[in-house]
Amino acid sequence: MSLAEQFESNNKSYVSTFTKGDLALPPAKKALILVCMDARIDPAKSLGFEEGDVHVVRNAGGRAKDALRSIIISQKLLGTREIIVIHHTDCGMLTFKDEDLKSILLKDTGQQTDLQFLPFSDLHQSVKDDVEIIKSNPFVLDIPITGYIYDVKTGEINKVSSD
Ligand SMILES: [Zn+2]
Repeated sequence: MSLAEQFESNNKSYVSTFTKGDLALPPAKKALILVCMDARIDPAKSLGFEEGDVHVVRNAGGRAKDALRSIIISQKLLGTREIIVIHHTDCGMLTFKDEDLKSILLKDTGQQTDLQFLPFSDLHQSVKDDVEIIKSNPFVLDIPITGYIYDVKTGEINKVSSD
């Protein structure tokens, strides 16, 4: 059975007890969480929220540059008024440099890419940088933004910056 087929089967049991069909489209807690795609992090469980509560934007590293489109849509069209940025210990983004991945791609395909993969070498600084990127974007509202580092060993979040 492929993973897709397993998921289809799991989903059948999920649907059989599903009770969240009447939730409103705008997030009830009016917030957006930007967090790394790392498979070890479960934002809902670790922070304590449910379906309908918040927008969760995930990408490699939880990088702001990659998330601006979603942040602006979330605020302007769906009313969110707070942002939480979460990077984490042992992140894969600490393990390579932009040039490394670009040269792998060039070797594999013979093509250059303009994509920026946005790795980082300083975890605290990466959170501060991303909070600043969001805060300084002219299309983002002036709202509370708090940055954290999630510890994959303990599940704890530690605040890096807030305004
Ligand atoms: Zn990560």
